[in-house]
Amino acid sequence: MSWVEGAGGSPYGVHHLPYGVFSTRKDPHPRLGVRIGDFVLDLRGLAAGPFFLPWIRPVFHAPDLGEFMAAGPPAWRTVRLQLIELLIDDVYRDRYRHLLVPVDKVRMHLPFAVADFVDFYASEHHASNLGKMFRPGSEPLLPNWKRLPVGYHGRAGTVVASGTPITRPAGQYKRADGEIEVGPSRRLDIEAEIGFVVGVPTELGTAVGPDDFADHVFGAVLVNDWSARDIQAWEYQPLGPFLGKSFATSISHWVTPLEALAWAKTAAPEQDPAPLEYLKESERFSYDITMSVSLNGIELSKPPFAGMYWTPAQQLAHMTVNGAGLRTGDLFASGTVSGPEKRQWGSFQELTWGGTEPLELGDGAAHTFLEDGDTVTITATAPGANGEVVGLGEVTGSIL
Ligand code: MN
Repeated sequence: MSWVEGAGGSPYGVHHLPYGVFSTRKDPHPRLGVRIGDFVLDLRGLAAGPFFLPWIRPVFHAPDLGEFMAAGPPAWRTVRLQLIELLIDDVYRDRYRHLLVPVDKVRMHLPFAVADFVDFYASEHHASNLGKMFRPGSEPLLPNWKRLPVGYHGRAGTVVASGTPITRPAGQYKRADGEIEVGPSRRLDIEAEIGFVVGVPTELGTAVGPDDFADHVFGAVLVNDWSARDIQAWEYQPLGPFLGKSFATSISHWVTPLEALAWAKTAAPEQDPAPLEYLKESERFSYDITMSVSLNGIELSKPPFAGMYWTPAQQLAHMTVNGAGLRTGDLFASGTVSGPEKRQWGSFQELTWGGTEPLELGDGAAHTFLEDGDTVTITATAPGANGEVVGLGEVTGSIL
């Protein structure tokens, strides 16, 4: 039980402790913090004193999480255990409570500099739904889909923090009458995803096996991979998604450390055919994370992450099998999380079946793709120790 008021029973209790970057009106310089209940503990302030050992203090004076993420699992574990002790043991209350800032008094920033951004396509239900819509009459999954985690390279420079307004993208698309024109997207969509961020880099020319996932990956964020379906549909062959995806990708302010997800580990779906050796995990696991997608405050679906066909460990192994080096801040996202049921789908493309089945939200309007002024919010929960809940996210954004 933490001495911080309201932390007990909170999805941001001592069992979670996600990291982020914040500033205040009084001190506008972005600095590291850890969330506890409805407060942010100022890690730069904490590192100015004797609490941390001298070797780790410098990483908390950086303006983002990069240096801490690069420090690796022993440093992550040590700091996490120290923070748990600080937040549980009453002897620290008087000494450190001045470092707590109410979360509604801070401005949150992008938590780390995104090095490369890779996006996968790991949900069998999502890939099958899109296959049925885009290639009717043929096999919904292409022949490579069950042999490798299909993915593409995104645009790191347009990954933005939750809350950043999203300007409706313009681009080329094909009209219903077959004419090609340029203009604002009319089929603006979301993709509800989980992203994993690399802390420990590797040398160019080396591969990372799936069992080494936790040696490199620091934690998880929620991702909304905004997508312009009309631009995407016209441009994507033969080289894959480009401007229909690269205008903006939103991530949550808080990075949940992998250790906080230890209780959420669950068996991943069995794979048939068996994957090639470099994709084989000695302990195949997923995370039991349930997402929630809301449009203008109304919940539309609850995509389940646990059922994703390709796991984040397999994605990491696949994206390095060619020898591509990892860099601190590399972000790889799962692809749209969709379950078997309609109420578990993670995109409007699926929820409205390509715009042909509008959503009734009780406001009399027929909702298909995003309108100007719409706000999409994604949250998620996962089981923690002793029946507690880990709350991921949120990631939100409104369309300009
Ligand atoms: Mn995506």
